[in-house]
Amino acid sequence: MKILKFGGTSVADAANIGRVLDIVKNKSKESRLVVVVSALSGVTDLLLKASGEASAKDENYKEISRLIEQKHLEAIKELIPVNHQSALLSHVKRVINHLDTLLDGCFLLGELSARTSDTIVGFGEILSSCIISEAMKHDIDFGLETGFKDSRELIKTNSSFGKAAVNFELTNKMISDYFSENQQRVTVMPGFVASSTDGNNTTLGRGGSDYTAAIIAAALNATELEIWTDVNGMFTANPKLVKQAQPIEKISYQEAMELSHFGAKVLYPPTIQPVLNLNIPILIKNTFEPEAFGTYISNENNLQSNPIKGISHMDKMALLTLEGSGIIGVSGFSKRLFEALSNHGINVVFITQASSEHSICIGVQNSDADMAKTAIDLAFEIEIAQHRIDPCIVEKNLCIVALVGENMRNHQGLSGKMFSTLGKNNVNIRAIAQGASERNISVVINEKDVQKALNTLHERFFEDNIKQLNLFVMGVGNVGEKFMEQISSQKRYLKENMKLNVRLIGVSNSRKMLFDEDGIPLKDWKNMLEDGEKADKERFIERVKALNLRNSVFVDITANAEISKTYAQYLEKNIAVVTCNKIACASEFHNYRNLKNLSRKYNAPFLFETNVGAGLPIIDTLKRMIASGDKVNKIQAVLSGSLNFIFNNFNENASFHDVVKEAGVQGFTEPDPKIDLSGVDVARKILILIRESGYEMEINDIENKSFLPQASLDTDNVPDFFSSLTANASHFDTLYKEASDKDCRLKYVAQFENGKASVGLQLIPKGHDFYNLEGKDNIVLFYTDRYVDQPLIIKGAGAGAAVTASGIFADVIRVGNV
Ligand code: ADP
Ligand code: ASP
Ligand code: MG
Repeated sequence: MKILKFGGTSVADAANIGRVLDIVKNKSKESRLVVVVSALSGVTDLLLKASGEASAKDENYKEISRLIEQKHLEAIKELIPVNHQSALLSHVKRVINHLDTLLDGCFLLGELSARTSDTIVGFGEILSSCIISEAMKHDIDFGLETGFKDSRELIKTNSSFGKAAVNFELTNKMISDYFSENQQRVTVMPGFVASSTDGNNTTLGRGGSDYTAAIIAAALNATELEIWTDVNGMFTANPKLVKQAQPIEKISYQEAMELSHFGAKVLYPPTIQPVLNLNIPILIKNTFEPEAFGTYISNENNLQSNPIKGISHMDKMALLTLEGSGIIGVSGFSKRLFEALSNHGINVVFITQASSEHSICIGVQNSDADMAKTAIDLAFEIEIAQHRIDPCIVEKNLCIVALVGENMRNHQGLSGKMFSTLGKNNVNIRAIAQGASERNISVVINEKDVQKALNTLHERFFEDNIKQLNLFVMGVGNVGEKFMEQISSQKRYLKENMKLNVRLIGVSNSRKMLFDEDGIPLKDWKNMLEDGEKADKERFIERVKALNLRNSVFVDITANAEISKTYAQYLEKNIAVVTCNKIACASEFHNYRNLKNLSRKYNAPFLFETNVGAGLPIIDTLKRMIASGDKVNKIQAVLSGSLNFIFNNFNENASFHDVVKEAGVQGFTEPDPKIDLSGVDVARKILILIRESGYEMEINDIENKSFLPQASLDTDNVPDFFSSLTANASHFDTLYKEASDKDCRLKYVAQFENGKASVGLQLIPKGHDFYNLEGKDNIVLFYTDRYVDQPLIIKGAGAGAAVTASGIFADVIRVGNV
């Protein structure tokens, strides 16, 4: 004998019931079956809603009842041959009339007792089971003898309405007697419903159809209990919240029990107990993918497998803390505490006690929290009045996350891994408990962090160490576009070789913004962004924060001062910031230091390699030198790719104006070229190198010997600036002539020595390290305690969209490797 249970989605409508019939047909060839069915999907909730509204004197309950009726009548019309429909239709209408009478009663009395509620809420299973058993009878292919038995006649309970306790002795006997007298091949029975020994309708608790099937399986000592649902088994985490979750092929009863107890809804927790004692295996299968293996639950313990089998969570929890020096001296403290809770029927899900015994923390459901506080405060009324114990503190909207695995006890360091993974992602742990069985480590966290916590833990314990990086990109001009191209073409390489899964979650330009939690296709972001919503810097931040994804990275590819002011808001939320925008790092020193401190405090990398020398590894090299104990004494550098391009191309045959224009066209200058030509850009860069070398300096401390004529410096817009270059052509020609007369080249040099810094145009003689600097190259000479006579030199292209994009890319990978 096998017991098959089909859940709500599996019997949601005629089409799904058709699938169920196929499965049952196949299975019935091998063995006798009991088929336990849930209510049609959503019907139990509708019944609860209708009864609640009726008792609250809201006439809307009538509409809900019509909806329930319609669902069932439709199913009958599609499932049953027309000539056999009428009897069943009138039967179902009679049942619905009975339901209506009960609901009318609730409405008239304005009352709903637990006992009445149980009768009403069980109608879903009563209706579904009778329709399904009739459909089987009339299925021509079936050719089998099928029967129907109302579970209320066989499963006997106490009178704890809502979640009644089964009287196993009586129930087992009634079930086995019935099935030995009735030998039909397939018997359909309603799940969830039962009756008390004194004859009232009861139910087994929400999700209780699984339990019905287990009770029958145990009473008949079935060979197998199959739970047919809408997913491919019990997953490593709730598949609705963790996309990467995988079905677990084999799991022990104890592990399955822990997972379901802590929220893996796929199996109702009490289901395991009856079959565990008899060693009846449970198979969880998917009605919509019957060929998938599913999950096999038995008493086998696979010692070779991952020590963590799954992660589950329970939301809507509250933590109650009782504290006070008096706790140590209060006799029978725990007994009184738990008695007070038990007297009010409050279920305690979680307990931790500090070893000093100064405080005790218990987890209960949000809905029980207020009652629990009242009960506890009353139980310790005297001690509270004497200030020996503080009144109980309640924190709501929390969530318990549990790591479950039988073999955890044989592995060290799992809890450490768990806490550090959560800590790195800024998930605050409110309480911790580890069962003595070491089958479970649970933490209590804030409900808003649950998805992030589940996903990071899943990544850490199940995903072959593939780390997901979630990017939010602001600014998609030349450099931004190149960056997108690069991540798109390298995505596969990064996943396979660096175990990084880089996803674009949000993107914005100055007009539009776009978000997709599942990842924006990297090949199609441009078109999609055009159809995106209106850009808004503040709303962008709000969205990034609200998504609260693990390993989030904000990538600033703008040159915008306003955007640079938002970094702190990201860092404070443990979101890494990668930027090529120099404004923040070159702003007041306290702001630069604050960002660095936030980065440290919140464990959020703040990286800006491209602030100096585009993609050249200048800042990274400098950081490593400093970290290894070196000291920078002098820096000499040509840091402006644009000025280098300009002075390398400017000669007696070209006008200064045209060369500057060309540099702009090729993307080597800032959108406003005056920022480059006035030396501000170079000053910012040397300032950043000085600060990264460990010195405190402000931009105004840097001497800026400008080569621009005053008229150009005085302009306040780009066209005027360009006009001033033409008007002052002779000024620039003189600069060039002076250099070439001395066989020198013009280079815009930044220097730092003895605590002083300057930027300005210099005549560089032949033989100098800077003389042969071509095109848009940059060069930096670091003189340090270790590089005394011969400096450490870094040289290469220091401007251009592709190299800048690759520098940003390198920073993103650095975030991934933290
Ligand atoms: P049924 O109606 O078939 O009884 P349920 O809705 O009670 O189905 O349970 C199946 C659902 O449980 C899945 O659709 C899934 O959303 C949820 N679930 C939560 N945690 C897990 C998990 N660890 N593995 C599988 N499913 C889970
Ligand atoms: N129909 C009941 C519920 O929704 C029982 C079940 O489906 O298992 O809770
Ligand atoms: Mg269920």
